[in-house]
Amino acid sequence: MTDIILVLNAGSSSIKFRIFGMAGNELAPLIHGQIEGLYTAPSFVAADQEGARIGEKKWSEGAGFGHQGAIEYLGEFLRSRREGYRLVAVGHRVVHGGLEFSQATRATPEVVDKLEKLVPLAPLHQPHNLAPIRILAKSRPDVPQVACFDTAFHRAQPEAAQAFALPAAITERGVRRYGFHGLSYEYIASVLPRFAPLAAAGRTVVAHLGNGSSMCAIQAGRSMASTMGFTAVDGLPMGTRCGNLDPGVILYLMDELKMDARAIENTIYKQSGLLGVSGLSSDMRVLLASDDPHARFAAELFTYRIGRELGSLAAAMQGIDALVFTAGIGEHSAPIRERVCRDAAWLGVELDPAANAGGGPRISTDASKVSAWVIPTDEELMIARHTHAVLAGHPS
Ligand code: ADP
Repeated sequence: MTDIILVLNAGSSSIKFRIFGMAGNELAPLIHGQIEGLYTAPSFVAADQEGARIGEKKWSEGAGFGHQGAIEYLGEFLRSRREGYRLVAVGHRVVHGGLEFSQATRATPEVVDKLEKLVPLAPLHQPHNLAPIRILAKSRPDVPQVACFDTAFHRAQPEAAQAFALPAAITERGVRRYGFHGLSYEYIASVLPRFAPLAAAGRTVVAHLGNGSSMCAIQAGRSMASTMGFTAVDGLPMGTRCGNLDPGVILYLMDELKMDARAIENTIYKQSGLLGVSGLSSDMRVLLASDDPHARFAAELFTYRIGRELGSLAAAMQGIDALVFTAGIGEHSAPIRERVCRDAAWLGVELDPAANAGGGPRISTDASKVSAWVIPTDEELMIARHTHAVLAGHPS
């Protein structure tokens, strides 16, 4: 029998999972996979650590499947494995911990009720993150569940970095900058000393560039500022999200185009960013392979805005010692890293083109004043670590 921690990252239409074996204090990744198309045509796939496919199933009908069906099937799959697993805990990615939760916590029914109240702060993510917690609380009340928050890492930011210049009464309602992708940044901060010990003790900007993109200033392991604010639509342009927007634009859309909140939500979350600007795709690979001027402009706008935010985050720390790229685009797109590093020459970044083409980890020259790195992120491992720590009574 192997003791395992199950890590779940549940979205509106898919659940990603990863299984870690526990041997003492060691966490070993064993299986990963996902169930997609939860409400349309569900499909399940699982692979072992070597990437070999060990499970696959498709359903023709999504009606009635949903998160419940996915969790049930995952249980069935685990029970069917010959290795014999004992589920000791489930760790969940929860996008919003609000003001109260600055560290991972047991997802008791009282905690889940509190997290439910944060749904208006992250309507597109929070309800789906909480769904599996409620389902498992019913079917496996014996198994402890731990909620790990994307906001928690940023709660250590200085007050000014978390505040909007709004009337105090509005700020007191919790309208402030929370920041997201915290599990990714925390993971990078945890491994950075292995790559760049001096920078890890100093000032680093991490660019998490994926479908959702943000950047974070980290000083001696502590989040100092981030590009995402009250919601995950702020900051950089993303696959389909617009990023920074003059709030006056929202008023214009309401007054002149008669758009209501839902229509604006759809525009700024789903129809903007790389997709909206290019009119072609939200996938950076497609844009970089295209000759279409709109596709080129979308990629240009993306790197331009990264450069602007880099300057702002560097200012929040009075300079930088290292720049780290991570997530889908950050880890895999040498051309985007090259453009960002070239634009950051003024800060002291000197790219090593061959190292960049090779994927790093170090992609700056030895002489570069600011070192640049490619470090794959691992949010699931961070969740498993938090879950393990909470079980052991040492929440981190
Ligand atoms: P998520 O935010 O959904 O976790 P990921 O971090 O996995 O996303 O990033 C997915 C995105 O990474 C894709 O939409 C794609 O645009 C981009 N991507 C992946 N590989 C490459 C590549 N080789 N070149 C450019 N972009 C890439």
